[in-house]
Amino acid sequence: MEYEPVIGLEVHVQLNTATKAFCGCANVFGVRENTNICPVCLGLPGALPVLNALVLKSAVKVALAFNCSIRDYIKFDRKNYFYPDLPKNFQISQFDKPLSERGFLDIENNGIKKRVGITRVHMEEDAGKLIHSESEPFSYVDYNRAGTPLLEIVSEPELFSPEEAYAYLTDLKMILRYLDVSDCDMEKGSLRCDANISLKPKGEKKLGVKTELKNMNSFKAVKAGLSFEIRRQTECLEGGEKIVQETRLWDEKKEQTFSMRSKEEAHDYRYFPEPDLPPFSFAQKEIEEIRASLPELPQARLKRFMDSFGFLEKEASVLISDKDLADFFEACLKVLPLHKKIANWLIGPISAELNNRNVSICALGLTSERLVRLISLVENGTVSNLVAKDVLFQMLETSKDPDVIISEKNLSQVSDTDELKKMIEEVVAANKKSVDDYLAGKENALMYLVGQVMRLSQGKANPKMLRDLIAARLKQ
Ligand SMILES: [Zn+2]
Repeated sequence: MEYEPVIGLEVHVQLNTATKAFCGCANVFGVRENTNICPVCLGLPGALPVLNALVLKSAVKVALAFNCSIRDYIKFDRKNYFYPDLPKNFQISQFDKPLSERGFLDIENNGIKKRVGITRVHMEEDAGKLIHSESEPFSYVDYNRAGTPLLEIVSEPELFSPEEAYAYLTDLKMILRYLDVSDCDMEKGSLRCDANISLKPKGEKKLGVKTELKNMNSFKAVKAGLSFEIRRQTECLEGGEKIVQETRLWDEKKEQTFSMRSKEEAHDYRYFPEPDLPPFSFAQKEIEEIRASLPELPQARLKRFMDSFGFLEKEASVLISDKDLADFFEACLKVLPLHKKIANWLIGPISAELNNRNVSICALGLTSERLVRLISLVENGTVSNLVAKDVLFQMLETSKDPDVIISEKNLSQVSDTDELKKMIEEVVAANKKSVDDYLAGKENALMYLVGQVMRLSQGKANPKMLRDLIAARLKQ
């Protein structure tokens, strides 16, 4: 029997507001343990939470960007459970009347476009953090993270392969980055993803028993965890075993998932309305104001880049895939209206370097002014394209202006006819056979001779002049 996987994703994203969700503590990382806390986020007696208005605004932005409807009756609930990192013994979350529901995200995987349903986007708070000591028989707890604002974005079980899940996460993160509501750094834990996965016989409508995967700290890990789980569940089913509904942890080193606990159900948490935060609703006008404040989102920017600049979808996709890169492109364009040339640099050598270093363009040490200057130097014939690439890498290494590097290393293009002629004579004398070939009608021989002079000039010869001069010399 052939099985089909069915995958749903739950993404938690930490909002980048200045303060926590329900108190005035700073929303920061990396400060001394248990110093960024107050009676509210510790749940001390008498403390009352107050919703951070910017958390709500960011949440509505995200909900609208994922095409969700904002509910007209919204409330918070307490999700009750005991764990040492949860000082109040409950988490403020949203249960049956969440902020928003029924949205979608359009994704593309292997050239195939598809719409994935978003079940809901809701607000909640984060818990503290347990720090397990390897040398001591106890654990530490740091409550600094308690009360940090989170959004939970839940997809419908409409993803049918690990690759689709990967594409969904990539596009989701891109939108969140455009909205500038989170740094989306998975390594820091500001973006976390849990995956529900089940198998069903091919063509069957009814979903199988699902497992929930946790502890995947990169999109690659999500893909690997899901692939492992598909193999594991397939083997179970083929061996006549039943799948157990449970939560499983992905072990990055062993590349396996391990059972953690049986999966809890909603009723286990004894959800009830949070009495300290009254239900509320929005006026339509308020929602429309937030909608009007949304920045241009990736799909709209893609379309604009294709329509205004005539880029192919493939080219425009690279540019818009990172908001910083797209902004950089537009900053260059303001100074130098050569969109095709600028795009070639950004899509080619610069994107390759960003991938190599695994950084965003902001961290590359390149300014739009310097790139524009470099392109201008190619345009006015000061350097060849080939040499310019080398200059670019030196610009990244040294943070110097392109003019400085070109003059220091004497990289200017040789456009002096006498100098070029001297080199041509040298090459012609040393390549009698190619000269004869050319005279016998082999056009390719000319390109070979051009290449030889180019080599002699260390890539600095002006290629157009060179070609004309060699052709003229051979005709003699
Ligand atoms: Zn606090």
